[in-house]
Amino acid sequence: MKKVYNFNAGPSILPRAAIENTAKAVLELGDSGLSLIEISHRSKDFENINNECIALWKELLNIPEGYHVLFLGGGASMQFCMLPYNLLNKKAAYCDSGVWAKKALKEAKLFGEVVTVSSSADKNYCYYPEIKDIPTDADYLHITTNNTIYGTEIHKDIDSPIPVVADMSSDILSRPIDVSKYAVIYGGAQKNVGPAGVAFVVVREDVLGKVQRQIPTMLDYRTHIGEKSLFNTPPVFAIYAMCETLKWVKAQGGVAKLAEINKKKAVMLYDYLDNESKMFVGAAEKSSRSLMNICFVMADQYKAKEEEFMNVTKAAGMVGIKGHRSVGGFRASTYNALPVEAVQALVDCMREYEKKNA
Ligand SMILES: *Cc1c(COP(=O)(O)O)cnc(C)c1O
Repeated sequence: MKKVYNFNAGPSILPRAAIENTAKAVLELGDSGLSLIEISHRSKDFENINNECIALWKELLNIPEGYHVLFLGGGASMQFCMLPYNLLNKKAAYCDSGVWAKKALKEAKLFGEVVTVSSSADKNYCYYPEIKDIPTDADYLHITTNNTIYGTEIHKDIDSPIPVVADMSSDILSRPIDVSKYAVIYGGAQKNVGPAGVAFVVVREDVLGKVQRQIPTMLDYRTHIGEKSLFNTPPVFAIYAMCETLKWVKAQGGVAKLAEINKKKAVMLYDYLDNESKMFVGAAEKSSRSLMNICFVMADQYKAKEEEFMNVTKAAGMVGIKGHRSVGGFRASTYNALPVEAVQALVDCMREYEKKNA
């Protein structure tokens, strides 16, 4: 197989072991004589996979009693509307920290009043806005813990007088979190925990059942809690691959261990940008920098060289370095499955290019 360094922002790199085990199961699940993608979601085999996946989520994130883990279709984007449908009675507070946050906020407006508690739109979302003056009469506060496009991250579990709901699509399982500080945690699996096709939702039961409106069956969290996400046919393949990814996380030593490695990777690249390079500069403000998506651009006098450097990374086997169009420049996504070696290769590539071209 061709060797590449996969810096894609999502769908993104997954552990090789998870891919190989999933590939095997697609050919034959255990010794069932059937492919993973031709078994019944009501079979004992799938029931075991589903239960194991739920148990791994609970173990790896230390999820306390009173929470449910759901696997749903529709991606994180479906949660932008499912959340307010289930939780927003009159008013909700949203932190506007990027494009995804803004999309979530837009959907909530269909269900009630939305207050923007803080925003970093004034500087094209290059920092994580300070969250203060949370309205105590709002039903919940929505945050996006890691802004995939801008490379900013909140890094802490905030204290809030009202329930906190978090889109953790791109930093879930990258660092330990205190789940008890959140009412709902959700995200698409395809950044750090699996392939596209499934969203995870961790929901505390006591926040449900408080809205006045009727909720369509499929959009009601209680439907999926009652049926362990098996109300309708779940994305069997995606759940299997996610489960294999979680097994890998556990085998690496869990989330705390991966957090150490993630930090090492990020520091390697940020250190180069801050202390060595005159050609490349970090795009996000230092205190807000993400450990998962590292955005950088070329200094003004070198801007014209961006495309050439992109080609150099391509020739070196690097994939997915191009920054999102709303930031420009480059973005290296350094999710759990990305080895330290890949970041080292990128820094080497930058250093060499700078030496020749500065
Ligand atoms: C990718 C992403 C989304 C959108 O996820 P989909 O599963 O494609 O709907 C939402 N929020 C954040 C933070 C993301 O990174």
